[in-house]
Amino acid sequence: MSKQCYYDVLGLARSASPEEVKGAYRKLAKEHHPDRNPGNNGADHKFKEINEAYEILKDPNRRAAYDRFGHAAFENGAGRGGPQGFDFASSFTDVFDDLFGEMMGGKRGRRHNRGSDLRYNMEITLEEAFRGKTTEIHVPTLVLCEGCGGSGAEHGTKPETCGACAGHGKVRASQGFFTIERTCPKCRGAGRVVRHPCRDCSGSGHTQKERTLSVDIPMGVEDGTRIRLSGEGQAGMNGGPPGDLYIFLSVQQHQIFQRDAQDLYCHVPVSFVTASLGGDVEVPTISGGRVKVTIPDGTQTGHQFKLRGKGMPVLKAHGHVGDLFVEVRVETPVKLSKRQKELLKAFEAEAHQGNQPETEGFFAKVKDFLGGKAN
Ligand SMILES: [Zn+2]
Ligand SMILES: [Zn+2]
Repeated sequence: MSKQCYYDVLGLARSASPEEVKGAYRKLAKEHHPDRNPGNNGADHKFKEINEAYEILKDPNRRAAYDRFGHAAFENGAGRGGPQGFDFASSFTDVFDDLFGEMMGGKRGRRHNRGSDLRYNMEITLEEAFRGKTTEIHVPTLVLCEGCGGSGAEHGTKPETCGACAGHGKVRASQGFFTIERTCPKCRGAGRVVRHPCRDCSGSGHTQKERTLSVDIPMGVEDGTRIRLSGEGQAGMNGGPPGDLYIFLSVQQHQIFQRDAQDLYCHVPVSFVTASLGGDVEVPTISGGRVKVTIPDGTQTGHQFKLRGKGMPVLKAHGHVGDLFVEVRVETPVKLSKRQKELLKAFEAEAHQGNQPETEGFFAKVKDFLGGKAN
């Protein structure tokens, strides 16, 4: 399935300013929020698309990567959480290295040595984000070759000291008054050269292997949370340290709860009889339990009840938990029997002033408005 351009998704020109990106996102996200489009699966999909586009375009680094490489910058090597989720042939790791190299204070000169960072996309449910979980992932990655211990030299031979740089990895050249030092072109900074390459790894010193890693997903993670597994990325070159593995989490939409940071929202249908007379309704909670909410008589549709501490835990803020907001939706009954209709007509006949203050207030305003106009 081909993906739509992120700029098109948000209806923006490529030159759009950060404010324009934000504005377009807000407008579209409101319009296509699944809550506003119940029963419309297309809206759900569109909403995801809008969010995805915004995630990239709001971040200057990611936007720059997208401008350069398009969707490939974020997709390659990013199978949705599946064990086959990596693709070494892609340019992705390079891009990723660019993005993170500077953030983590990596110096340019070290880039040849330090292994690349890897990305692993994982999708979890809202319940899993609530509880946290420990899971295993399978990561195919470059590891030091067992045949040569990473030296790249065939068994029984050793890498030799590079003649061009005498093992320093750097060569100096004089230019006028200056002496310029640069990486040795012959050994590419390694200081050693391999005359008889290892057969297992063709002299690279690395082989590909699938590793199983145990990952702790802490409670309270959000869509877009990154988890860094230090040193679990690609093996380093020339004896350099390995890169890191980043787990990019996405949290699935829930069929009952909508999340806003640490708070949860849900709609609960209530019969017009319960709303009128008052009563108890049972409300599910994200922990898998039920809570009884007492609805007072005369409750209007749209009224919100706050259940303190029934929301999501806050990441890394031990014991901090958000709230659950339950919004009442009074349901109009359908498929009435003959008797029910009679009862409602009898009920209507008993109506008296003050029964429906909102209706009365509205028609008073209408009368005022139309009356004023006629004069
Ligand atoms: Zn080897
Ligand atoms: Zn050299």
